[in-house]
Amino acid sequence: MSKKEIDTRFNKFGTVSFTGISRVNDFISHLEGGKLMGTKCKKCGAHFFPPRADCCKSLDSDMEWFEVKGSGKLLSYSTLTFAPTGFTQDLPYTIGVLEYDLYKVFGRIDSSISEKELKVGMVMRAEVTKLPNEQLSYTFHKA
Ligand SMILES: [Zn+2]
Repeated sequence: MSKKEIDTRFNKFGTVSFTGISRVNDFISHLEGGKLMGTKCKKCGAHFFPPRADCCKSLDSDMEWFEVKGSGKLLSYSTLTFAPTGFTQDLPYTIGVLEYDLYKVFGRIDSSISEKELKVGMVMRAEVTKLPNEQLSYTFHKA
């Protein structure tokens, strides 16, 4: 899997840009191991997802990985009916934001869940998934 393909895959989330994340390859390695990871600033404790190599709060670069575990609350969601060229075969799909205690995670809601079932505040969890084409991703499921 080339980095370009990975970056293209992330673009699919619509709300998340992984461009410029210097540790994106580590992020992918963790995904391969079934773990969804963000970064935490060792200095001020700020959590970031998607992972950042530098803390935008204390301007520190001493970061460590943490695993996105457990469940979060659905903060908002939106069903997309358009997508960049090449991704239109998946439409429509729903993206959402899960709020955890210390961070928020943007991503795609599993296609088995209809928009009618979704409610702001419902408890969901993020799961790493392997797509039929071997690409790695993560989706939100009911907790
Ligand atoms: Zn910091």
